Amino acid sequence: MAPTPIDPVFVREPWHDPKAEPYIRIEQVTKRFGEFVAVNEVSLNIYRSELFCLLGGSGCGKTTLLRMLAGFEQPSSGKIFIDGVDMSDIPPYERPVNMMFQSYALFPHMTVEQNVGFGLKMEAKPKSEIADRVADMLKLVSMSQYGKRKPHQLSGGQRQRVALARALIKQPKLLLLDEPLGALDKKLREHTQFELVNLQEKLGVTFVVVTHDQEEAMTLATRIGVMDHGRIVQVGTPKEIYEFPQSKFVAEFIGSVNVFEGQLIDDQSDHVRVACPELDCPVYISHGISSAPKATLWVAIRPEKIELSLVPPAQQENWARGVIKEIAYLGDLSVFLIRLNSGKTVRVTRPNRWRHEDEHMTWEQEVFLHWHDTSPVVVSA
Ligand code: ATP
Repeated sequence: MAPTPIDPVFVREPWHDPKAEPYIRIEQVTKRFGEFVAVNEVSLNIYRSELFCLLGGSGCGKTTLLRMLAGFEQPSSGKIFIDGVDMSDIPPYERPVNMMFQSYALFPHMTVEQNVGFGLKMEAKPKSEIADRVADMLKLVSMSQYGKRKPHQLSGGQRQRVALARALIKQPKLLLLDEPLGALDKKLREHTQFELVNLQEKLGVTFVVVTHDQEEAMTLATRIGVMDHGRIVQVGTPKEIYEFPQSKFVAEFIGSVNVFEGQLIDDQSDHVRVACPELDCPVYISHGISSAPKATLWVAIRPEKIELSLVPPAQQENWARGVIKEIAYLGDLSVFLIRLNSGKTVRVTRPNRWRHEDEHMTWEQEVFLHWHDTSPVVVSA
């Protein structure tokens, strides 16, 4: 008999399935410290086996939200459910949760094996079971040959893997990670991000990761919740957040973006036309906007979605004229800062696909900027 086909969208994207039961349900949770509101009316669903990233600047409330999931802080109001159970009266040690701290908090006097097996020893598991499970965990994180070392004899990346093995050995259903890669340098971070994703996919454990690093969130996450001043301002897949930011804040927080103030001059279900005083002609966008537009709105265009040419483009809309003011050669791409007639500076990036790609573009040269009508998005203030 042919196997029953599994709908990949259902498996990978349960948030699109109205029948899918969230693993974590955060309902209108607020946390106050005295007068200060650290987390403000957050409602959020996270599904089983997700790698969900809470992303935001320093002090936006992401660690406080994570600590409430772990049970180290209690919400001032609102409720948290894990696997359908109200967590209000459940202490941290009875939750199906483990937390990996930013500092990794390894015991310095213990070997790697002892660190990883510590939780099982506390549960008075038999020695042989501890030894077997520690060996399995060290294999999983590719640290088998380092079992007898102490933490100070390891690199930052190796310590991170030991901390992960220690957090996973008790087979939590939910692992909370606070800036898990914060202590690693850029190269090692990138490498470890992929390792973390592979490990999470292999184990199917639900991960909630706090990070202030947008690239890290983009690499790791099934979905990202962007936080600002205690609120979740947008939730979506990395692509949704990058390509369709809902607000100026999200557009500017994730990657670079050019933002133009404008007035709606034509509003159809399949396109809109926006007059932007800083540009020479209207912006035509090939999708409608769902919310009732205000008189003033903002058009956001990513730097890599703008083309440069030395001759005027044939199109009537979606172009501007400017002068090259800065060029930064970054190896894989070059960044151009272009001053428009209106005085607005626009950032454009171009990949260096061949060695002499941008040699014909130079400082103070007049250039034409143009973009496809799927490139701009309308965002709120
Ligand atoms: P970072 O990336 O800097 O760690 P964060 O987004 O994780 O920031 P939180 O640690 O959640 O931020 O803190 C949110 C706000 O709540 C901050 O302004 C912080 O000073 C405040 N805060 C956190 N814990 C307490 C506390 N125990 N008492 C008073 N204020 C607190």
